[in-house]
Order: sequence, then C-alpha cells, then structure tokens
Amino acid sequence: MKRILVTGGAGFIGSHLCERLVKNKDEVICADNLFTGTKRNILHLMDYKNFEFLRYDITKELYVEVDQIYNLACPASPIHYQYDPIQTTKTSVMGAINMLGLAKRVHARILQASTSEVYGDPRVHPQTEDYWGNVNPIGIRSCYDEGKRVAETLFFDYYRQHHVDIKVIRIFNTYGSHMNMNDGRVVSNFIVQALKGQDITIYGDGKQTRSFCYVDDLVDGMYRMMNSREDFTGPVNLGNPEEFTMLGLAQEVIDLTESDSRMIYKPLPQDDPIRRKPDIKLAQEELDWYPEISLEDGLKKTIAYFKELVV
Ligand code: UDP
Repeated sequence: MKRILVTGGAGFIGSHLCERLVKNKDEVICADNLFTGTKRNILHLMDYKNFEFLRYDITKELYVEVDQIYNLACPASPIHYQYDPIQTTKTSVMGAINMLGLAKRVHARILQASTSEVYGDPRVHPQTEDYWGNVNPIGIRSCYDEGKRVAETLFFDYYRQHHVDIKVIRIFNTYGSHMNMNDGRVVSNFIVQALKGQDITIYGDGKQTRSFCYVDDLVDGMYRMMNSREDFTGPVNLGNPEEFTMLGLAQEVIDLTESDSRMIYKPLPQDDPIRRKPDIKLAQEELDWYPEISLEDGLKKTIAYFKELVV
C-alpha cells in the first residue's frame, strides 16, 4: 500500500484518478481548494477508509508524508484560468515549487500534469515531445501555457540539481464524466446544448481540430507513467491521436443525442490553436499505452452523465 497525494484531486481528471487509486487500495490524500473542483466529484469516495480529502491551496507549503505525488492542481479551462490569471500562474509555478520541495524532503516520486498547451499554436503536426512549441508569452492564454511551461522547467531543474524522481506528462484534450458543466469546454458545451435543444455554438469556422481522449484511457496512461522505470522522466504526450474538426464533433453529438439543435457560428477566441493532435509513439513504446475508447463510446458515456444533471 502506497501513500499518494493527488493535488487537484476533486477536479475532473483528479477525481477519476483518486477513484482508481482508492480502488487499488492505496492510501489517497486528495488536496483541492475547490476553485473548479467540487465535492460532488469525490462524494462517492468519502466513505473509503483509504481516502482523505484536504481543502487546500498548494500555493502554500504542505507538509504530509507520502510516497507519490500527482500534481494536477490548476484550473484548466479558459473561462476559469482567465478569471484570475495571476493566481493561475501562481498555482502552476508556486504549486510546482511547493510540491517539488515536498517530494525532495520525503523522497517521493512526483508526476506533473503538464499540457498540450505548452506547444501553443503548433507549427509541427502532429506534436512530438521534442517540439519546443509556439506560445504567445503575453496573450490571454499565457497565464496557463507559460505557467505550465515554467512548472516543467522546475521539474527538470529539481531533477538535475536535487535528483528528485520526476515524471512529466503532457495531457491533450480529455473528456468524460465529472467535467464541469459550465466551464465552456467544447465537449461539455456541445452535449449540454444538444440535450437542452439549444443552438450548438461553433467558434470560428469549426474547421479547427482537436483530438479527444476519454478520461479512463488518460488515467490509465497517468498511472502507467507514474509507475514506469526510474530513468524515464518524460515529458510524454498522453492523448488520443484521432483528430476531429469541431464541426465533426458537433454532428456526432447531435446524432448521438438525437437532438434537433442547430449549429450557429461565433467568433474564434484569441490564440485559439488551429490544429492539435498528439504523436503518442513514445507513450506506446515506453508505457505500452494506447487509448482504447472510441469517440462514439466515450461520448455515449459522457452524454449519460450529463443527462442526469441537465434533465
Ligand atoms: N469551441 C467551440 N464551441 C464551444 C466551445 C469551444 O467551437 O462552445 C472550440 C474552441 O474554439 C476550440 C475547440 O472548440 O477551437 C476546443 O476548445 P476547448 O476550450 O474545449 O479546448 P482547448 O481550446 O483548450 O483545446
């Protein structure tokens, strides 16, 4: 039995990860300041003796004794990370410093949930881990993108300077239950709009692409990375390489919900990447990982989750 800290553990991905670890019989401390995470996401874990919830903001030092740390804490959707952009950067940067300091003190292995946003609006397609990215340092997405980039820098400096046992993953677009209904992400927006019979909001011409990974696949990849051989630090891309346009996604959601919603067009947000698709060769080779759940199956499960909330 391992003692594991999950920061951002009440969030969308964090809560699924906590569930997996709790069911593994590990001892889980879930730390979350509940800015975007919610207790509802972890209510079903509260009765487990090996699960503990800590309302905590990781921009402050944290003293616990653990064997592993998954550092996920940071608002991840543009609406939320742009609400207080300075706090967003602080969460990534000071959060990384505090968690790395903790890992160093207790000799824990630590995994950083980084993001495909470190590639910015990529000039290389699909994105491989050795691509340095194309990020605007002063735009409205920069608090998130640059915050996560500095966090990666800190991880590798703690690794080189203090020999902390680090793992870095770069998460591409992920969807599934426990997504926040109002966070403006495309999958949740389209599903909720379709279920309510509202217009489906396509930003720009809808021809921009994303690749969507179902959350169970992602959590499996995270777990494999955390438990991979010691000299494999990453960064490693985790995501589903199947690429869809937003128009294609909207049509799939309309079909699966049998909705009579129609599509309407809205302006494209500033710095919205045109294409995004992970190259996951490294994850396949090192972690023997490949996403298994198709967009159709994943959407069906996600639609079932949102149906309970919407109706
Ligand atoms: N998007 C859209 N309609 C929406 C919400 C988002 O067309 O109601 C687009 C958005 O402009 C972007 C893509 O969907 O091109 C994915 O957006 P999301 O915020 O989910 O993720 P990210 O931009 O961080 O990849």
